[in-house]
Amino acid sequence: MPTTPPAALAPFLTDAHLQLWEKAEAFATGDVAARVERMEASPHTVERMLPELMGKLGWFGITIPPAYGGMGAGHVARTILVHRLAVVSAAAAAILQAGLIPVGALCHWGTPEQETQWLPGAADGTVLLSIAVTEPDTGGHIGGIETIAVPAGNGQWVISGEKLHIGNSHLAGLHVVVARTAPADTTASRALTAFLVEHDRKGVSLAPHRARLGLHGFSASRLILDRVRVPATAILGELGQGLHVAQSSSIVYGRPNLTALSLGLHEAFTATTARWLQARPRYGARLADHPVVRDRLGAMQARLHHATSTAYHAVHLLDQGVPCDSVLISAKHTGHELAAATGRDAMELHGAHALDGDYALQRLFRDIQHTYAPAGTGEFQRIHLANTALGTPTTNWSQHMAVTPSPAARGQPTAA
Ligand SMILES: Cc1cc2nc3c(=O)[nH]c(=O)nc-3n(C[C@H](O)[C@H](O)[C@H](O)COP(=O)(O)OP(=O)(O)OC[C@H]3O[C@@H](n4cnc5c(N)ncnc54)[C@H](O)[C@@H]3O)c2cc1C
Repeated sequence: MPTTPPAALAPFLTDAHLQLWEKAEAFATGDVAARVERMEASPHTVERMLPELMGKLGWFGITIPPAYGGMGAGHVARTILVHRLAVVSAAAAAILQAGLIPVGALCHWGTPEQETQWLPGAADGTVLLSIAVTEPDTGGHIGGIETIAVPAGNGQWVISGEKLHIGNSHLAGLHVVVARTAPADTTASRALTAFLVEHDRKGVSLAPHRARLGLHGFSASRLILDRVRVPATAILGELGQGLHVAQSSSIVYGRPNLTALSLGLHEAFTATTARWLQARPRYGARLADHPVVRDRLGAMQARLHHATSTAYHAVHLLDQGVPCDSVLISAKHTGHELAAATGRDAMELHGAHALDGDYALQRLFRDIQHTYAPAGTGEFQRIHLANTALGTPTTNWSQHMAVTPSPAARGQPTAA
């Protein structure tokens, strides 16, 4: 059933946002809902139809400036899309969000030539992007990246290494790859460089798509770079700025995207449980009439209200150009924690029914496990947040990457 935005979001939503919400709802409850069962039943298959449809709608270009064919609709608009998709299918939302992070990196760090070459295709959905940072041994420790890029003369670079859990690995036509370009003893803030690497360059390959715990249909595989030769014009940002490219896109794009994803799941947990409690008979009434059960549902709804306001407040600040790294980080951290707590309540309030057969709740419960690790694990978020509490925040990317407020943020209609 399509829904309208909660009243609490009124301060953050313009008319253009409301129109976008309606479109996202229609797509999620129509095309996406129709494919959920099939995606769930075939975890070994990469979903290709939904990204194609989302590409045609222009949604991978939601933050791309109109000059490059994008919607230029801003960060609240991006959250609306990921959030509304995630209520129906976290896998569909994961596909969209994973494509939006490298697009953000390209918009902020690309040269005019790179933007002209790649952004129009990203905007119309003909080229999907991935961002390849995580590695098998070093995981989320960006400073430890072992993939190396060495100069090979004639302005060429040769990249070798492996990347793991790369969102949209099997769909991307262009990978943003972060590699080491300086000796091991160089400080991370100067040792890494980001490269734009086409999927069909010699030496680029992928491990086969494998079923994961959840997000069935979303590909997040191993990217192998075996002496891949790229021109110096493939460097995104400047030589030595790879940490900045990775970190900024993770904070400004990744965190809000994962916040929106966990929010959609949170909403689905709560709605599924409310329906169940209203339908299940007990003592001549329904479970929903039982005070102890009702109390627990109330706690779920309180968490959902909190997560919803926090998620939209954070991206509203971004759209307004307000420095807000800590708010983005906190929203991602708290959003996952609250949704996971609600997921546990949802499972327990369903009793054994939740464990039986292929009840929908199982999909939600598996999917929520996927919003902890990406775009900074809880531990990394808390390290940053503790620094903020101590008066020494470690990053300020929201301010560095602030753009002229988008048309949506100014209350003008978008191309949505
Ligand atoms: C759905 C999904 C999509 C993803 N998409 C992408 C993508 O598009 N591109 C990409 O590059 N990666 C992607 N990832 C990978 C993700 O970024 C990593 O999972 C994350 O960075 C953590 O790395 P890891 O899983 O190897 O865990 P590790 O880094 O090995 O960490 C394991 C545990 O140790 C803790 N830990 C590690 N170091 C410290 C420390 N110094 N202090 C305290 N605790 C620490 C971590 O918090 C975690 O709990 C994705 C992951 C998922 C689940």
